[in-house]
Amino acid sequence: MDASDRERYSRQILFRPIGERGQEALLRGHVAIAGCGALGSFHAAALARAGVGRLTIIDRDYIEPSNLHRQWLFEEADAEEALPKAAAAERRISRINSRVAVRGIVADLTAANVEDLLGDAGVILDGTDNFETRYLINDFAVSRGLPWVYGAAVAGYGIAMPVIPGHTACLRCVYPDPPAGAQPTCETAGVLNVTVSVVASLQVADTLQILVTGTVPPRITTIDVWKGGIRQIPAPERDAECPACGKREFPFLEEAAPPPATLCGRNAVQIRDRERPMDLEALRERLAPLGEVRANEYALRFRIAPYELTVFADGRAIIKGTSDTGIARSLYARYVG
Ligand SMILES: [Zn+2]
Repeated sequence: MDASDRERYSRQILFRPIGERGQEALLRGHVAIAGCGALGSFHAAALARAGVGRLTIIDRDYIEPSNLHRQWLFEEADAEEALPKAAAAERRISRINSRVAVRGIVADLTAANVEDLLGDAGVILDGTDNFETRYLINDFAVSRGLPWVYGAAVAGYGIAMPVIPGHTACLRCVYPDPPAGAQPTCETAGVLNVTVSVVASLQVADTLQILVTGTVPPRITTIDVWKGGIRQIPAPERDAECPACGKREFPFLEEAAPPPATLCGRNAVQIRDRERPMDLEALRERLAPLGEVRANEYALRFRIAPYELTVFADGRAIIKGTSDTGIARSLYARYVG
């Protein structure tokens, strides 16, 4: 650490649990941020300002005007240019702190590339918007002994939980399986920017503590910024029967689910999720305020220009209007959950 670092981070160094040694650990740290939407863009800015030496930012999506109310890193011009979030984030972060080595990667995080994209990180931060990717991160992190911090926000409520493999419960100790059926998402239930920033702040605080001390107390924090509730409970004990951290089975790393496939010549992508029975009537009610939607017992068709999503009762979907599998998976995560 040189004199300019001492000056720049002086207020953080004065915070006793960090101090000069902690700051040095942050400068040496490498955090991978999986997903750079509302949570991830807050993570990236906060960690860059705190002086975390290396940031890898992974995102599959492009900036749209409806992102701007909660995605702190992005500006109107980014949405007008429809820049990839990872690329815009890299540019912005290098302006916030030019001494941070930041790499923005425009990619869909999958079992095929998770080792390349996350393998080098000291901590993984969850900035995703879907359970599929979170179970992939959990399997990867537990299999490699890497700490990661789960976070989710929708409407006015959110949750954060750090996972230190071998010490704390992992995601599958708490939620053994991904939720069945459609889930509320920011596109269907809305979200407040303050919900996201509270959850992202809790995740960043845990990340700083892990980088400085190597661990963090096991705890689950839930917040409701509108009704006013905040609750923190000790995370449950590790479950010896947990498929991931107990039995060390990592199905999400095995690409059991067929990858999304571009449908040749149709400007459409097929998503074949794991067996995921879908209540199409409930999904129809949720999507009705957002666009034209029709459903019968076999399939639901939802138009949101320039795309059209057809969701089948077994969870499979065809997304028309794009041949980009990352965009298609993003639309599925946003509207189906
Ligand atoms: Zn576990």
